[in-house]
Amino acid sequence: MTYRVLVTDEIDPDGVAILTSEPALLVDELPTLPEDELLARIGEYDAIVGRSATRITERLLRSATRLRVVGRAGVGVDNIALDAATALGVAVINAPAGNTVAVAELLFGTLLALLRHIPRADASMHDGRWERSRLLGEELRGRTLGIVGVGRIGSEVAMRAAAFGMELVGYDPYVGDERFQSLRVRRAPTLDALLAEADVVTVHTPLTDETRGMLGRRELARLAPGAVVANLARGGIVDEAALAAALAAGQLRGAVVDVYVREPLAADHPLRGLANVVLTPHIGASTAEAQRNVAVDACVAVRDALLKGDLSRSINVAALRGERWAELQPAIELARRAAAVARALLADQGLRAVQRLALRCGPAVVEGAGALLSAAAVGVLEGVLEAERLNLINARALAEARGLELAVSESAQLGHEAAIELTLSGGMQSIAVAGLALPGAAPRLTRIGAFHVDVTPRSTLIILTNRDVPGVIGRVGTLLGDTGVNIAEYHQARLAQGGDALAAISVDGTVDQSVRQALLQLPDVRSATVVRFANNGAVA
Ligand code: NAD
Repeated sequence: MTYRVLVTDEIDPDGVAILTSEPALLVDELPTLPEDELLARIGEYDAIVGRSATRITERLLRSATRLRVVGRAGVGVDNIALDAATALGVAVINAPAGNTVAVAELLFGTLLALLRHIPRADASMHDGRWERSRLLGEELRGRTLGIVGVGRIGSEVAMRAAAFGMELVGYDPYVGDERFQSLRVRRAPTLDALLAEADVVTVHTPLTDETRGMLGRRELARLAPGAVVANLARGGIVDEAALAAALAAGQLRGAVVDVYVREPLAADHPLRGLANVVLTPHIGASTAEAQRNVAVDACVAVRDALLKGDLSRSINVAALRGERWAELQPAIELARRAAAVARALLADQGLRAVQRLALRCGPAVVEGAGALLSAAAVGVLEGVLEAERLNLINARALAEARGLELAVSESAQLGHEAAIELTLSGGMQSIAVAGLALPGAAPRLTRIGAFHVDVTPRSTLIILTNRDVPGVIGRVGTLLGDTGVNIAEYHQARLAQGGDALAAISVDGTVDQSVRQALLQLPDVRSATVVRFANNGAVA
């Protein structure tokens, strides 16, 4: 199987090399294409890797019938129609970590520029002047830096600020005490508490409904006179009008800003007219190293998504870090297969419109609950839905659009930490299928309805219910042997002697309808369900 990848927007060559060195990837590297040209060509590709110059619109995604993965060498995905990609089952991958140091270093560059008047000093020198006595600056040492958002960049900032001898206080309600302790950042219980003691406030949060305007007029007024504000995160986290007003009024010592609500920044924007602000045109990530890092990160992730079905870096699938993704593969496979078994059993009982899917996860796999639920939704829908692409990215949305109610919960009552139990129901009918997924091992089904089994679902699973009388196993074995079906595992379970029995028969290869009909003709066999598992990967 080979995949075609379009690389555009002048991605760093170290990243491109990761793709071109894979024999299974056929890579075309093209400059940023005009929209109509890209539209005409996109249908040929399984993946596209670019930066922000190429816009991945809904129209483009709809024409991209083969497209599985969009890779963005960088963090922002404003240029990608994310909802449309999710609905169409296209993985969107970005590279959020590679430019962390670049941003942290720019913060100190601009702060020092502000406090030591470097831009003015430089400009006056180039103008032929010598203004030494007018350029008295201030030091970072001993000042308190308030870091709002102690994530990747906030952490790098903290480490560098410590080297400058700054006092550190941080506000981030979503980060545990451990990170604060390891970074030696004192935790501020509230934003106001941080503002009360910071000499320099720097924001490093994403732009969300919660953080938009987070430093507005009220907050800036709480800062000590002479404080400095920095926004190298996203335009709008610090309210621009409030910042310009506080700077103009001399209430703040100064500010450094790299990001703006509207970019490029308007030529007559009030911030441009102020002397005590250092402005840069969104260059936080603009270093050769950062561009190389993000290109490499994005290309590795795109390669792994295409060749290994690894979606751990996809931002539109339930988040799991790389190593956990690999560990949880058996559980993901189990959830999908258990759902396929339950659906097939219900279908043979006459229930085709499944209304509810409830998944219970043991503590060892609950971290992947979102991905497991998606996998279970794939298991219910595959073979039923005429979706061009059905995968972990869009399965939940497609299921919910069909009125399937999805629920997931943690349970320590499943008999094993790594067990899952899936219940499908509709009308008055319901069936539960449980299994066990240990890292590095093939997943096993451990219960079908009330029957305890122990069988690995391979290509096909036959589930028979029969009267518990002698001779059934022999007759079933003979019939399957006569029809060329190779049995890998045969697990017979019963509730009570002479009562109902269930056989879970795992076979290699396929079992066609005529075999099922023949099984149903055997004496004492009550039902026969054949589940053929699809083997396509996570983004196939
Ligand atoms: P991250 O996800 O690693 O960290 C963000 C942190 O913000 C998290 O720890 C989160 O818990 C915290 N947070 C979220 N909401 C919060 C709230 N209401 N109050 C306090 N903390 C909150 O992200 P990152 O990689 O460190 O990036 C930080 C910011 O920098 C992002 O906005 C990113 O887009 C921006 N960025 C800018 C440039 C640039 O060119 N200037 C480059 C890269 C990243």
